[in-house]
Amino acid sequence: MPDPVLRATDLHKTYRSGLLSRGGGVRAVAGVDLELHAGETLGIVGESGCGKSTLARMLVGLERPDQGEVTFQGKPFFTRAGVPRDIRRRVQMVFQDPLTSLNPRMTVHDIVAEPLRVHRLSPDARAMRDRVGELLSLVGLSPDRMNRFPHEFSGGQRQRIGIARALATDPDVIVCDEPVSALDMSVQAQVVNLFAELQRTLGVALVFIAHDLAVVRHVSHRVAVMYLGRVAETGPAAEVYQAPAHPYTKALLSAAPVPKPALRGRSRIMLAGDPPSPVAPPPGCRFHTRCWKAAERCSQEEPVLEAVGEHFAACHFADRAAAQLPSNDR
Ligand code: SF4
Repeated sequence: MPDPVLRATDLHKTYRSGLLSRGGGVRAVAGVDLELHAGETLGIVGESGCGKSTLARMLVGLERPDQGEVTFQGKPFFTRAGVPRDIRRRVQMVFQDPLTSLNPRMTVHDIVAEPLRVHRLSPDARAMRDRVGELLSLVGLSPDRMNRFPHEFSGGQRQRIGIARALATDPDVIVCDEPVSALDMSVQAQVVNLFAELQRTLGVALVFIAHDLAVVRHVSHRVAVMYLGRVAETGPAAEVYQAPAHPYTKALLSAAPVPKPALRGRSRIMLAGDPPSPVAPPPGCRFHTRCWKAAERCSQEEPVLEAVGEHFAACHFADRAAAQLPSNDR
């Protein structure tokens, strides 16, 4: 397999300011490794506060990790002088809330043209206008509306404007931080389908972050399930969804609607309580305070990611049997 286009190695990020510094700060991300290959989608899922947005910001260079490294095509993201301009151009981001991520005083033309100006990608105003029109068409919006303001568009259309802006620099990677969670259910599917189509036509690699497993399932080639700042389970999406080995992934999946009739008999696993505070994560396995499979070892020894079938799970008692079943028996 060729080298990944984006690689994160042992990323850590702790926030220590004011009240957050008590108890050593908020350990938002605590040792995450990820790889993203050209043209693929990596889905990252987990509950609120699991560190996925902090991870997203480190993957685009908006946050510097306390420890660990992010590389783009083998080159380090974070240099003494900051993130190199070339990497900033080639790794873009789509934000969660299109209402707050678009400047309400700028026209759609100016919003989408901003990265073209910053990276000097259009020779003149005419070329810039043509390129903005092309980008708006690409995301399903009429170029005739480029002189309007964000408030004149619906939520789904505003997110399309954000996607057009991210595409303006012709990036190799787009990191999408919960890009549909602020949208109505009926609009979510349209925007998810747009991402899938853009990937097919443009070949851009996507990191697609969501708290909803069902959303990620439709667009991802591989998935990573995060819990309290760490990856609990990761691997090819089909295998993780059909044969989850980690108790947390099993619980998340058991709570999601199941389209496949053969799997509808799976009983629902109820998780006890809320995730513990990232200020003081539990010792041993971070999930042991909510895990129905927990044993004494779990509160003492932190599990690391180990191979289970074709994928990896961080659990002392990972369900290896499920991963070995032929797919039509699962
Ligand atoms: Fe549950 Fe123990 Fe596995 Fe953690 S290591 S997920 S507590 S069984």
